[in-house]
Amino acid sequence: MPSFVYKWTNKTNQMWYVGSRTAKNCHPNDGYICSSKIVKPLVEADRDNWIRTIIDTGTPEDMRELEEFIIKESRAPHRADSYNQSYAINAEPWNKGLQGVQVSWNKGLPKEQQPMYGKPSGMKGKKQSQLNKDKARQTAIAYNKWRRENLMHCPHCDYHGTYAPRWHWDRCKNKEGN
Ligand SMILES: [Zn+2]
Repeated sequence: MPSFVYKWTNKTNQMWYVGSRTAKNCHPNDGYICSSKIVKPLVEADRDNWIRTIIDTGTPEDMRELEEFIIKESRAPHRADSYNQSYAINAEPWNKGLQGVQVSWNKGLPKEQQPMYGKPSGMKGKKQSQLNKDKARQTAIAYNKWRRENLMHCPHCDYHGTYAPRWHWDRCKNKEGN
């Protein structure tokens, strides 16, 4: 089960990016960086400034599901400290209005290379209904592990904990202009 979910963290600003790798014969040490066209060049340019963690390994299906789950549950596209949001901010006409998971799926790829391209729009709902209890539980365990290991730093003060948008990040009292 060589597929995996990875996280890149920028040591300077604590911003992070979560993705999955499910290519045939892939494994966590195959040298792959990430699918983000924004994060990849940043890592390549300054590798020492980045930490990669492997969140979990498993089947391609489970890893895609875990990636989706993390991005959705952490609200990554709406957060100031995630590079996963960049697609939402720099929305091209074709991904305008998409939600976080769809945005992450698309990853800035040309339309015909996007995983959901040409697939019926009902596919996601069907996939969800097939999720059995064991698998849902495993996903929840993996997500809780991820959450414990990935407490967030507010970029404007010393706050270190779970994401608290009411009090930190854009609304932090230490942020200039607040
Ligand atoms: Zn703060």
